[in-house]
Amino acid sequence: MAPGDEFETELDAYREEVAHPLWRLFRAYTPGHTAWLAIGLVTSILAYGTLLVTPIVLGTTIDAVFTQESAYALPLVPDAWLPSGQVAQFWFSAAVVGGALLGGAVLQWVRGVAINYFAHGVMYAIRVDAYEKMQRLDMTFFDNKETGEVMSILNNDTSNLETFFDNALGDSVRIGVIVVGVTTALLYTNWQLALVTLGAVPLLVGFTWWFMRVIEPRYTRHRETIGDLNTRIENGLSGIELVKTTSTEEYENDRVRRVSRDVFDANMSVLKLSYFYRPGMELITGAALLATFILGGLWVFSGPPLFFSGELTTGEFVVFMLLTQRLTGPMAQLSSIVDWYENAKASGKRICGLMDVPVRIEDRPDAIALDDVDGRVASDDVTFAYDDGETVLDGVDIDAEPGETVAIVGPTGAGKSTVAKLLLRLYDVSDGAVRVDGHDVRDVRLADLRSSIGYVSQDTFLFDGTVADNIRYGRFDADREDVVAAAEAAEAHNFIQGLSEGYDTRVGERGVKLSGGQRQRIAIARTVLQDPEILLLDEATSAVDTETEYLIQRSLDRLAADRTTLVIAHRLSTIKDADTIAVLDEGEVVERGSHDELLAADGLYANLWGVQAGEIESLPEDFLARAAERPADRHT
Ligand code: ADP
Repeated sequence: MAPGDEFETELDAYREEVAHPLWRLFRAYTPGHTAWLAIGLVTSILAYGTLLVTPIVLGTTIDAVFTQESAYALPLVPDAWLPSGQVAQFWFSAAVVGGALLGGAVLQWVRGVAINYFAHGVMYAIRVDAYEKMQRLDMTFFDNKETGEVMSILNNDTSNLETFFDNALGDSVRIGVIVVGVTTALLYTNWQLALVTLGAVPLLVGFTWWFMRVIEPRYTRHRETIGDLNTRIENGLSGIELVKTTSTEEYENDRVRRVSRDVFDANMSVLKLSYFYRPGMELITGAALLATFILGGLWVFSGPPLFFSGELTTGEFVVFMLLTQRLTGPMAQLSSIVDWYENAKASGKRICGLMDVPVRIEDRPDAIALDDVDGRVASDDVTFAYDDGETVLDGVDIDAEPGETVAIVGPTGAGKSTVAKLLLRLYDVSDGAVRVDGHDVRDVRLADLRSSIGYVSQDTFLFDGTVADNIRYGRFDADREDVVAAAEAAEAHNFIQGLSEGYDTRVGERGVKLSGGQRQRIAIARTVLQDPEILLLDEATSAVDTETEYLIQRSLDRLAADRTTLVIAHRLSTIKDADTIAVLDEGEVVERGSHDELLAADGLYANLWGVQAGEIESLPEDFLARAAERPADRHT
């Protein structure tokens, strides 16, 4: 199986545990929107109630005015209000029908607006909460590449819920009102014939119950395949450069084709069933209509058929036919509601699943505020393993006094970046502690910790926006002079001025319109503006030309001058002057000391130095053999 085809993730695991997602979301989010919900429900009842007026008034009018089979009487209207002459009765009926139509239209409008305020208000809150929740999740969650999945939750799943809260809620009320209203009116008009018409209701309910049971798993599957597709597409887009340079377009197309095919199959399996349901419902209601027509028709011509007794007037027959028809439409629409419901339930599960993923890294309730940071940093006997268990750091001790520069060197995969991530508390140690100013980083406020550390990483991310926006990112109140001063300190001012619109030049998605060295200098300017007490540099000078490297190095030296600095470097020449150099190998500190001390010790550092300075040809064979055996780097 190709890598990335497995989507069994933490999110899946939590989603499976969710019970009654819609009820849970409804309970959590309706408070605050109850007024709109109430207005929506009341106007729905009234609006759909007006739909019953026309058939009843028409039936009564036929009997009283045209066939004169009974007296003119309207339900809920006192007889004293009714006119007595036939012409007046005719016009009165027309006015009532017209009034009901007009009133119905106004009520429909109010209903639509109110229900939508409710539905969209709830969805707004859910979407914002889901996004905030996503921001709080720790890196382990994102390491498992769940971005596509999360995007599909924030986009598609919230829209599904919106449709449900908007359409399904309104339509359920409509069906409820119509079914209750029609049932009452039919029973009131002629209870015997009403039993024939209403015989369809239990059949409809039974059929719907069966349908819901069989379609639910198909819906869940459909939602899953859409999440998979999003993940696949997101992956393909973010890796587009790799895809092109390795000519793997066909391979990627094929992977997308396969997940798209799954979406297609899952979708068809839902649709085949839902298209079976709709006509089924219509058939049942249609049969009831036909039976009512035949029995009612016979009754009107030639007296009560079969075991029926009593009289059925033409007007009553018309009321029956019109009302039964009113029943057919909404009943068949039960299918859409069930569709929406099932779809929303699957989406609700995914939203609740996201809400339930535990936030492993967050402030303790009594977290300490870090006000005046001196900049003492210590990794105290730290042992750490990523999610999948293998020990990456084993008893690592690295200390830096305020203002000192400590370099961490060692072969790829030794665990250098991991030390940096633990200091930033992107992950929590498995054992031991990382301390800043003597406080365990787990005890201090995360925001304070992270704002006291300036992190310049291997890959510099820029947001789409202007150069100035990117420098200001995190210190949004900085004015133009501060930004320019920071850029000058980062040796970036000159190149920025050369850009078409200077500081207002847009950098493109992820900063693609700038070179690696330019991006790095913008990141350094951002750090200058941040003015942190502790500086964390992760291979900041890799992949640039010598001149740029010199500029970058000069700005970094300036930045590091009066701060505690932890540098992770491959190029040993840049850290020769560090106060302490810690050599990491396979997650352990194997040597420690100043450059001169380490050279004198003639160990791993002296070997690495020798190779880089061109003094020796190669590393010892046993070292190379160990390097080759090391598990592949995760992020390369
Ligand atoms: P270095 O910076 O010295 O090259 P790292 O700290 O990046 O090394 O990696 C140390 C080890 O941890 C490597 O074996 C790497 O594969 C593993 N690793 C790094 N990041 C992750 C991650 N997010 N999840 C799991 N393993 C990781």
